[in-house]
This record gives sequence, structure tokens and C-alpha cells, in this order.
Amino acid sequence: MGIVKEMQVIQHSAEKLRTALVPNRQDLAALYQKYSLQERRLMEEGLRPDSTLFSPISLHSDSDWITAHPEAPQDFQSFYSSPYRSIPVKGRNTIYIQTIGSFGGAEALTEQYVGWLRDYCEAFYYGLTVKLLDPVTVAATGCAFRINNNTHNLQIHAGDLLNFLQKRKPKDAFCIVGITMIDLYPKDSWNFVFGQASLTEGMGVFSFARYDDDFYSRSYKGRLQKGKEIRRGDYTVFSGYYTPPITSTLLIRSCKTVTHEIGHIFGMQHCQWLQCVMQGSNHLVESDRRPLHLCPICLRKLQSALQFNMADRYRALLQWMEPGLPSKEPHTSQESVAHSAKPTQAFKDSRQWLQKCLCVLEG
Ligand SMILES: [Zn+2]
Ligand SMILES: [Zn+2]
Repeated sequence: MGIVKEMQVIQHSAEKLRTALVPNRQDLAALYQKYSLQERRLMEEGLRPDSTLFSPISLHSDSDWITAHPEAPQDFQSFYSSPYRSIPVKGRNTIYIQTIGSFGGAEALTEQYVGWLRDYCEAFYYGLTVKLLDPVTVAATGCAFRINNNTHNLQIHAGDLLNFLQKRKPKDAFCIVGITMIDLYPKDSWNFVFGQASLTEGMGVFSFARYDDDFYSRSYKGRLQKGKEIRRGDYTVFSGYYTPPITSTLLIRSCKTVTHEIGHIFGMQHCQWLQCVMQGSNHLVESDRRPLHLCPICLRKLQSALQFNMADRYRALLQWMEPGLPSKEPHTSQESVAHSAKPTQAFKDSRQWLQKCLCVLEG
């Protein structure tokens, strides 16, 4: 029998949470008063121990992020006065998403999937424009690649992709985010990496390969045959290479990762206050456990950067999650592409959560 450790809960006092949300600094306290009564009511829900909207963070094992990375939590004031805070300004307020390689066999599927992600980011970063750059093949990036010795899947070099993104970054970009279904590695001695970012350059690259439920199973189809040789610069190995099936789980994981990572580019650090999409995560189980939404303290951080109306933002997110709606920008071309409905089953809890928030915001 293994040792069963009791789950630990990080329960901050209401006072501590209040100071994290509304600092004593006069100007920041005054700014807080500019929120509507309903908006303040929603954020202050997070201070209540019996809140049904916001819950404390629970630790399940020593490999969880907070246990492995002890550091001071970032409250609203330290975010606001941080030299790493980055705010979109006029002329530099577009988020660009660059797809690298295929996302679902057919090109039309890639387009559709990335379109859903785009729309989600636009609702999450309410007020900003999110644009898709034309997808590129792995070959077009000129990146190094390899076969992983343990998992025998193809991997591409994350740093090379960042160099490529830097050259592609448009002038009006707040940030550029590269996404790929192929696994990444940061350097030869490392096994893999989920993603890599340069916050000062406003760019990051992230892989969804390991979000495939099959990734760690023996039957994983991304494994290459034993003894398969690859030649440097010969990218033909990527044509027709396996990509994870597009499911509701893959979509929710992708939405979570992309919004979390862009959050870092704004200067938000890992959240240690309440359950929040900005919580750090060391492994997939921990990342699945964190919610899609921001806690009140991180919500205030983002709101101070984007100045959105909270109800408008939640309505946009809720609308995105409505089942069976076609994507915002339907195909205009005449080709007969069978568009599937957005798989939103995994978003059920988030949908209910948003509805409850809207009840508070609409009084
Ligand atoms: Zn993070
Ligand atoms: Zn948070």
C-alpha cells in the first residue's frame, strides 16, 4: 500500500485576500472604488470562505507547483508597480497566433480549431484583437528537430521557433504566440518542454502534443518505428505525421494554456491566492485541476490593463461556450468543407460558473 497523504488546502484569511485585492496604497484603493457596486460584489465573493464561486487552492502532492516553487505571491499592488508589467497601448494592441505544422490532418480542421482558440482568446482578453497569422509548416521555420529517445516521437526545437516568431512579429503586436501539435524540446539534454517564452520580447511557443490522452500510452500513434533515421534539414518526416484527435478535452486544455501563457506576458505571475487559471502547474493532472477563470485578484490585474466591463467580458466568454454554435467567422470559400460543431462538453462547469457570475454582475 502506498502512503496516502491528506490533501492540503491553502486557506488565506479574508483580511489577507482583501489586502491582495485592495492594497492600502491610497491611489489604488481609490481606483477600486471606481468599480461598480456589482463588480466589487463579485470580486469580494472571493474573500468569503463559504463562496460558491471562488475556492481555495488545494495541494495534492509534493510535486505540485506551489510546493516545488516556494516564492512570494504577487498581490495587485506588486503587479501594478512591477517593471515587468506590460500593457497593450494604441498601435500595439493585437495578439497574434502563429500555427506551426498541422493540427488535425486536414488543413480545414487546423483552420477551424485555431479559429475557436482565436475567438476564445478574444473573449478572454476582452477589448484586444486576436489575429491568426497564416499557418506555416515546420520546414518553413527552419528549426532543428529530433526523435525523442524515450518516447520515440518527433520533437522540434523551441528556441529555434522563438527566433522564427521574432522575425514574424508584426509591428502592432502586443505579443505573438506560436502553437503546435508537435512536441518541443529546449536543448539536447532535456527530455521535453510544454512551452518556452520570452516575456520581455512578448512572445511564446507552446505545444499541445502531450495534451493528447494517448500520449503516454504504448499505443501512441506519434511514435516512430524503432531505428527510423532522420536527416537534418529533411522535413519530409513531418508530412502526414500524427496529430492528436480534436476533442473537447484537447480544446479546453489548449484554451487554458494559451490564456495562462499570455497572462504571463501581461506580467501576471503564478497565482497563489485562490483557484485560478494563473495557478502554476508542474504536470497535466495539476493543470487539469485548475479552472478556466481568473480569481478576483488576477481579474483585477487584467482589468487594470484592459479596462473592460466585467459583465461584457463574461457574456462574450459564455457566448463562446454555447454548444453547437458555428465559429464567429464561417468559411466564405466555396469548397465543401464539412465543419463540425465546436466540442464544448468539457466546458460545462465553466458555463455554469459564468452564469453565476453574471447573476451577481446583473444584480
Ligand atoms: Zn505559468
Ligand atoms: Zn489568481
